[in-house]
Amino acid sequence: MAAHHRPRGGFQNPWNDRPDPGFRDFLKWVLVERPLHGRPPDPPRSTFVRATPNFPAPRAPADQAVLTWVGHSTFLLQIGGLNVLTDPMWGERASPVRFAGPRRWVEPGIAFDALPPIDVVLQSHNHYDHLDVGTVRRAGRAHPAAQWLAPLGVGALLRSAGATRVAELDWWGEQTVGDVRFVSTPARHFSSRNLFDRNATLWCGWAALARGRRVLFGGDSAYHPAFAEIGKRCGPFDVALLPIGAYEPRWFMRFAHMNPEEAVQAFIDLDPAGRSVMVPMHWGTFKLTDEPMDEPPARVARAWQASGRPADRLWRLAHGETRAL
Ligand code: ZN
Ligand code: ZN
Repeated sequence: MAAHHRPRGGFQNPWNDRPDPGFRDFLKWVLVERPLHGRPPDPPRSTFVRATPNFPAPRAPADQAVLTWVGHSTFLLQIGGLNVLTDPMWGERASPVRFAGPRRWVEPGIAFDALPPIDVVLQSHNHYDHLDVGTVRRAGRAHPAAQWLAPLGVGALLRSAGATRVAELDWWGEQTVGDVRFVSTPARHFSSRNLFDRNATLWCGWAALARGRRVLFGGDSAYHPAFAEIGKRCGPFDVALLPIGAYEPRWFMRFAHMNPEEAVQAFIDLDPAGRSVMVPMHWGTFKLTDEPMDEPPARVARAWQASGRPADRLWRLAHGETRAL
């Protein structure tokens, strides 16, 4: 059995030397630590300026790769002539309930109804900031032909919310749609929708491999030793979308989320030759953890500079911004 499958069902991270923090640790963070230490202040919401998207519609030429950041981990990725959405999240809150939970800071960079026809949806895992049932319902109605690709165990929730064509893949599993090969890549994270389903379903990233263009969507991940292997098996990538936010406090979060310095290290592991572009994601959209909302991009810029990589290979996208490769 693969090391990331739990013997009695469900999943686990194969690289951990101790158990992941659990619900007790979460309570310690929120009920003990936070009242004790407080949180550093956030910038005003106007800090994040929304750009006007200008992606090609209905589709980009097959030899191009075009990225538009909707916010958080949601991108419109146009590759190999397909329109691909990553972790579609148009909801107002990343939460199981409407009246509480992290509220959106910036309007989605593309209005849902302005999306071009969607061919593929890549789902990384089932957390509320990545899998929004309201958005799945809208996408199921508006884009019924879309092929959804999800990690093991996540298909049932997608189908119950109205996605019709759903395939579940294990790490390193592959599915080809049109001329693009999609590969599920390992990540170090966890899953849950409620108190009783921890790690019952899998988490992953996705490589999208088209003729001449390769893009990695890293999903949600802590730092782990398999980034080099992802680069070897699926790279070299033209661009890697990597999460940089939701990292404080470290004692709790380092098992689930990279900080900006670790994300730059993961990028270097993926791309030792230094050809790729890094696009930071998972920041600036929902307040999930204790660091100020504008800290992740500032820290990633410093870590990038320290790494000696050319400044123009780090793309800090504004919400809604489109860039083409
Ligand atoms: Zn997550
Ligand atoms: Zn997340």
